Amino acid sequence: MKAFAYNALPGRVVFGTGALQHLQREIERIGAKRALVLSTPQQRGQAEDIARSLGERCAGLYDRAVMHVPVETARAAREEAKRLSADCAVAVGGGSTVGLGKAIALESNLPILAIPTTYAGSEMTPIYGLTENGQKRTGRDARVLPKTVIYDPLLTLSLPVPLSITSALNAMAHCVEALYAEDANPVVSLMAEEGIRALGRSLPKLKANPDDIEVRSDLLYGAWLAGAALGAVGMSIHHKLCHTLGGSFNLPHSDVHTVILPHAAAYNRAAAPDAMARAAAALSVSDAPLGIWELEKSLGAPLTLKEIGMKEVDLDRAARLATERPYYNPRPIELGAIRALLDNAFHGRKPAEISGQD
Ligand code: NAD
Repeated sequence: MKAFAYNALPGRVVFGTGALQHLQREIERIGAKRALVLSTPQQRGQAEDIARSLGERCAGLYDRAVMHVPVETARAAREEAKRLSADCAVAVGGGSTVGLGKAIALESNLPILAIPTTYAGSEMTPIYGLTENGQKRTGRDARVLPKTVIYDPLLTLSLPVPLSITSALNAMAHCVEALYAEDANPVVSLMAEEGIRALGRSLPKLKANPDDIEVRSDLLYGAWLAGAALGAVGMSIHHKLCHTLGGSFNLPHSDVHTVILPHAAAYNRAAAPDAMARAAAALSVSDAPLGIWELEKSLGAPLTLKEIGMKEVDLDRAARLATERPYYNPRPIELGAIRALLDNAFHGRKPAEISGQD
């Protein structure tokens, strides 16, 4: 077996249909008394219900979370927490709201309880992002890791089906990259493989029965495993491409992950055979990149960069940006091959072996 070092992350997970009812108990458990509830404007209704259920343990509601956490929003939320004498924050929502909670924790040490309502997985990672003057910077800091995560599939029933599909594929991408990470280890690989299995089996059912709580439960289970994998090991070319395309070309987060995943997997197909075999087995297919692409096609998920807002003239710049300061990747990062990958993704071709040259 390959040698490894593994730092398990702390954090408590409470999972189950109706688990939200334990929020009061969980706030008390971390020794807090006054929670500031965070949400996006779109999820204010859900956040209000939660705030109301907390009674006097709720210090207030801050509903201005937006994608990519502008520093101004983080500052305003921190000041609001101080003004209201909040001693913890409860982030109800997807990666944007959890990201706001992390930005508050980074400079105030306020403990965060996360209640994820998408499958993005941020709640399980010590990774934060902040946007200042149009530039997004990311970092890792143990202080931003939520103390407690409550997964309640009932809260995901309102996530629209197209976003549910791309968000779950975002989660699958965390799992696929964890399998060939530089610091991969046997425990995280088990979680990643099981995550792919849970997401792969429940996605086709979601399309037919979006209100089936067992299906939603299975998806959230896969998302938890995916987030845990993302938080525990480093990521490679798939995430580098998605950060570049999302950050520099403003493409929607989960759509970009969906379009890029089969092509990034194809890029690494020959260099990471064991990871590909495990991903394929989890999906019950013979080839992981092709299996993922076919799954996406059957779900009606976006398959082309073109349809999610990318301009063909920007592909050269995107390839350059994504290869400038590469993350570790099992296959060496070559500009020509990455440009070819982006071309395949732009046009939504079947993920073939990529043989571009520098
Ligand atoms: P999001 O949080 O931006 O949510 C998208 C939209 O869906 C929002 O309007 C939100 O209010 C709404 N929504 C969420 N859940 C809903 C529900 N159950 N019902 C109805 N509407 C709902 O999207 P996301 O994909 O979860 O997160 C994307 C952001 O998270 C990006 O900025 C990304 O960089 C970040 N992220 C960070 C990490 C990390 O580890 N730091 C991991 C994954 C994603």
